[in-house]
Amino acid sequence: MYCAHCGKEIDPQSLYCPHCGAATGAAPLTKRTNGLAVAGFVLSFFVPIVGIILSIIGRKQCLERNEEGGGLALAGIIISCVTIALALIALIGSFIFWAYLHAYYTTLY
Ligand SMILES: [Zn+2]
Repeated sequence: MYCAHCGKEIDPQSLYCPHCGAATGAAPLTKRTNGLAVAGFVLSFFVPIVGIILSIIGRKQCLERNEEGGGLALAGIIISCVTIALALIALIGSFIFWAYLHAYYTTLY
């Protein structure tokens, strides 16, 4: 492309003309945010099994495609692990509680 100000050929991705310094009007290159990383992060709170899968894929894509969201995906992986761990503790805890109650009442009657 050519500079609108001085007419010299310039790199289409450059924001300013290297010859005269005029703004070229080119949109600055913003990094895309990886959608899977965002979805994985959000789902890690509600559906951690899906969240951890999306976060792992999202993080891989972020690194491969140089996209934003790698940190978010990592947070999604960690939160998914914590959510799964808490769910397991709650499940095992309630099972032990139920088994204890059951044993208690069966000895009474
Ligand atoms: Zn110029």
